[in-house]
Amino acid sequence: FLAGRRALVTGSTSGIGLAIARALHAEGAEIVLNGFGDSDEIARLRQEMGGAPYSGADLTNVSGVEEMMETAGAVDIVVNNAGMQHVSPVENFPVEKWDAIIALNLSSAFHTARLAVPHMKEKGWGRIVNTASAHSKAASPFKTAYVAAKHGLAGLTKTLALELAEHGVTANCISPGYVWTPLVENQIPDTMKSRGMTREEVMNDVLLAGQPTKKFVQPEEVAALAVFLCRDEAQNITGANYSMDGGWTAK
Ligand code: NAD
Repeated sequence: FLAGRRALVTGSTSGIGLAIARALHAEGAEIVLNGFGDSDEIARLRQEMGGAPYSGADLTNVSGVEEMMETAGAVDIVVNNAGMQHVSPVENFPVEKWDAIIALNLSSAFHTARLAVPHMKEKGWGRIVNTASAHSKAASPFKTAYVAAKHGLAGLTKTLALELAEHGVTANCISPGYVWTPLVENQIPDTMKSRGMTREEVMNDVLLAGQPTKKFVQPEEVAALAVFLCRDEAQNITGANYSMDGGWTAK
C-alpha cells in the first residue's frame, strides 16, 4: 500500500530503524537509508532494499541533516529514529555527550521536519513517525540527556501534529520500553559501573524490572506499528504517543 511513497528512515543501519525500513520496503515504499556501519554491510542492505539511496551523514550536526535531506530528495514519510544513549550520574555527565544526545535524539527531528514538510504540504499527504521511548513519558536516573531529549521529542511531535493537521500530514511517536538492540546491549557495561551490578543483575533487576511482561520488545513489533501509522486508515491518528513497553508506563 506504500507503492509510490518515498520513506526516509534515520538510523536505519541497525536495530529498530533497520526493522522499520525493511517493513516499509515490504509494503512497497522506496527507502532512503541513513546511519553508520560497515560499508559492505550497508551495501548489502541497500541492495536488499531495491538499491536504496543511502546517506552516512552524522545527524548530530545541522549540516549533516541538511546533507542527508539533499540525498533523500522529496520524501513522503520521515521516520526520525537515529538515537544514542549515555548513562552517567549528572555530576559526571560529559557535556559533549549532553550536546550530542540533544542534537541527535531531538534537534535532528526538528531539522528533518522543517526540510520535509514543504513537499508533504504540497502533496497533501505525509507521515512523520518518531521513535521516542518510554523515557519520553517517565524518567530513570543517570539518563539526563536521553530523558530530556525524548520528552522534547514528544512535545515536538505534538506541535507538528497541530501545525500540519489540515494538510494531510500526521506526526506521531512510538515509545518502546526496552527493545533488544545494540543500543541496549551497549549500555549494560556503564549501568553495571553506575550501579555496581553484574550483567545479569542489570538485565533482570534494571532493564526488565520495569517491564511487567518481563520480555524485551522486538524491533519488528515497533516496525509493525510504524507501518500502521503510515496507512490511510491512520489519517486521524496524529499527535499520539504510543507506548509499546510491556506495561512499564502503566504503573
Ligand atoms: P541502534 O544503536 O541499534 O541503532 C541506532 C541507529 O542510529 C544506527 O543505525 C546508528 O548508525 C544510527 N546513528 C547513531 N548515531 C548517529 C548519528 N550521529 N547520525 C546518524 N545516525 C546515527 O539503536 P536502536 O535501539 O535501534 O535505537 C533506535 C531508536 O530507538 C533510538 O532513537 C532509541 O533512542 C530508540 N529506542 C530504543 C530502545 C531500545 O530499547 N533499544 C527503547 C526505546 C527507544
